[in-house]
Amino acid sequence: MVDIQSLVRKNVRNLKPYSSARDEFKGSASVWLDANENPNNNGLNRYPDPLQKKLKARISELKNVPTENIFLGNGSDEAIDLLFRGFCEPRKDKAVICSPTYGMYQVSADINDVEMVELPLTLDWHLPLEHLRSLFSDDYMKLIFICSPNNPTGNSMNRQEILTLVSEFNGLVVVDEAYIDFSETESLTSELGKFNNLVVLQTLSKAWGLAGIRLGMAFANSEVIDVLNRIKPPYNVNQLTQEVALKELADEAAFKKEVDAILSERTRLKTELSKLKRVEKIHPSDANFLLVKFVKAKAVYKALTEQGIVVRDRSKVAYGCLRITIGTSEENTQLLAELKKLES
Ligand SMILES: *Cc1c(COP(=O)(O)O)cnc(C)c1O
Repeated sequence: MVDIQSLVRKNVRNLKPYSSARDEFKGSASVWLDANENPNNNGLNRYPDPLQKKLKARISELKNVPTENIFLGNGSDEAIDLLFRGFCEPRKDKAVICSPTYGMYQVSADINDVEMVELPLTLDWHLPLEHLRSLFSDDYMKLIFICSPNNPTGNSMNRQEILTLVSEFNGLVVVDEAYIDFSETESLTSELGKFNNLVVLQTLSKAWGLAGIRLGMAFANSEVIDVLNRIKPPYNVNQLTQEVALKELADEAAFKKEVDAILSERTRLKTELSKLKRVEKIHPSDANFLLVKFVKAKAVYKALTEQGIVVRDRSKVAYGCLRITIGTSEENTQLLAELKKLES
């Protein structure tokens, strides 16, 4: 087991967190004159629950993770930022990513003035185990970010390799599972009981179709969760978000149906794309996007935008590749039609 307290920034360890009116009074009451709110009920005049207890209870049920091991934030981007703020001393501590990967880890490190070590993924886009291991003797190395399934490559990392790293590393291993619901692989949340330095990130922004409400989840040992709760803005998840999330999370069947539809479109798009001469390679995907290598990717990108179709140009980080999100059946058909026009 890792000594979590020894990883926490000293100022955070010594911090007396902000205590809101809603934190201080525990019990039931009918007259609330403690928070300088407007008393006229319009459904939103009260501050939201700072610890989102109802929502966490539902997420706990869905994910089979106890509520004390759940942190909720304004998108998983907030959890990423809070991990830096809680565990990395600026200009001293370090973190590591394996590229190409999601851009926010680097941005968050830069904002927090934390040095990011960037290692390349292997040629088939798996974890560079030995390279990572060679960093373990550095006492300032605090966070490893592993994105699985990875954005933008689409593949999942090897579960056993991730767990090996978790068991050998003396800092936190953060596994970003933003795309886990599109994957056959099992979430690492089932391993939380065995490792107190494992942090799993998930989000409602992708499979759940709720990018607009901004709700991200971090699952970890309660000591890690407590650190995030100590430093978060008190009301980081607003009332509207909590209400909409609860309502949407009630209907798991509808969610599964949508995910299935996206997955069958992914299969269709892959089959159809592979017939095109411009398409050199379609990378295996466990996510709701395909990373596709094109002959003259930039020209394809430009031709598509001229038809009002926007894909993501990833040719700088993955040579010759565009990242294509799986759209509705109609959208995918439209995309294929435009690509076919480029063949002649
Ligand atoms: C889209 C995405 C997220 C989502 O972030 P939110 O702030 O929850 O919307 C997180 N991680 C990765 C790798 C992503 O691609």
